[in-house]
Amino acid sequence: MVATRHCCYGLCRSDSRYGYRESMKGVYFIPFPKPHLGMEKSLRWVRACRRENFTVSNITKDTYICSLHFIGGEGPTAEHPDPIPATATSTQVQQMKKRKAPTNRQAAPPPGKRKTVVEDGIDNEMADTLLDLAQNEINTTRKWQSRSLKECTR
Ligand SMILES: [Zn+2]
Repeated sequence: MVATRHCCYGLCRSDSRYGYRESMKGVYFIPFPKPHLGMEKSLRWVRACRRENFTVSNITKDTYICSLHFIGGEGPTAEHPDPIPATATSTQVQQMKKRKAPTNRQAAPPPGKRKTVVEDGIDNEMADTLLDLAQNEINTTRKWQSRSLKECTR
């Protein structure tokens, strides 16, 4: 027999008995970190749940939180291993998501490479200018040539 798992987070009603419900689709239960394995993490999770009378001493092997309460809604990730505080506003949650940014920025080209891009830009611009000048010169020459040609045929 499998023990019923229910979510101990805030006002969440997720319960493994109601797995058939639409709202439970894709929801899974994550066992609470045990205090004897890491008090700090247990405390963070308990605090995030914001439940009255719920302390680390209430954590048992049957204490679960559902996957909905993490950034992205799919359980803990390397970047967001802890649940979102139950009292967080949607704005605060957005800010938590933004903290991901530095990781993304690292994927951008390193400064050295960026400099090359800028230099390339200048080169292109200069090349264009030179091309324009050359084109003008050709045009001018042609004008002179055509004029002198006309003058000759006159
Ligand atoms: Zn839940």
